[in-house]
Amino acid sequence: MSVTLVGVSHGRPIPVFASSVTFNLPDTVVVAATEAIESQRSFTSSVEKMRFVLNLTALNIDDGGGPFGAAVFDGDHRLLAPGVNRVVADSAPVAHAEIVAIAAAGQTAETWDLATRGDLTLVTSTEPCAMCLGAVPWSGVGAVIIGSRDADARAAGFDEGHKPRDWMEHLASIGISVERDVLRAEAAEALSDYSTNGGPIYNGRTKPRSGLGPESPDVGG
Ligand SMILES: [Zn+2]
Repeated sequence: MSVTLVGVSHGRPIPVFASSVTFNLPDTVVVAATEAIESQRSFTSSVEKMRFVLNLTALNIDDGGGPFGAAVFDGDHRLLAPGVNRVVADSAPVAHAEIVAIAAAGQTAETWDLATRGDLTLVTSTEPCAMCLGAVPWSGVGAVIIGSRDADARAAGFDEGHKPRDWMEHLASIGISVERDVLRAEAAEALSDYSTNGGPIYNGRTKPRSGLGPESPDVGG
C-alpha cells in the first residue's frame, strides 16, 4: 500500500488538515492566570478556587467564549493551568473548559498523567458534561470541585449529555473526591445571564439527525 502526499517541504509532508490542534485562551485569561502563577498565590479554600474560575468564566464570555471556566490546582493550592470554553471561538467541539484545563495542565507539567504531579484538583464552574466526566479519571486529578449543577446548565439551554446517575459514587470509588455547589448561585447566574443576553448556545441541535435517537437539545458544558 502506498500513500500519496500532496506535497513535501524540507522532507516533511505538508498536511491538508489541522495537524496541530490548539486551544486559544483569551489574553485576559492568560494575564489573570499568569499573575496567579507568578505570584505563587495559594488558593487555600474551595471558595477561593471557585471565585478565580468564575472570574475566568466572565473574562471568557467578554471575549466571545462560552460561559464555562475551569482550572487545575496543585497540591499546594496553586494554579497549574486555566481552561475556558472555546468551542465556538476555536471551531473545536471538544474545547470545553475542563478539557482545555486538563490539556493545558498536562502540557504545562509535561505529563499525560497528572497523578504523577501530586494530588491535583480540577475546579469547574459547571458540573462536568458526559465528555468531561469521562476525561476526569483519565487526567489523573484526585479531586473535582464544582459550581453550578447539571440542572442549571440545562435551564440555560445547554445539555450535559448522558451520564450515569451514580457518577459521583463511581468517582469516589476510584479515589476521586467530588465537592458540589461551591458558589452555585453565582455560577448558575453566569449561565442564565449568558443565555438571557443572547449568547450562542453552540451546537444547539434541537432535532435528531435522521434516524438517530429521540429529540433532544444537545450541547455540552
Ligand atoms: Zn464538558
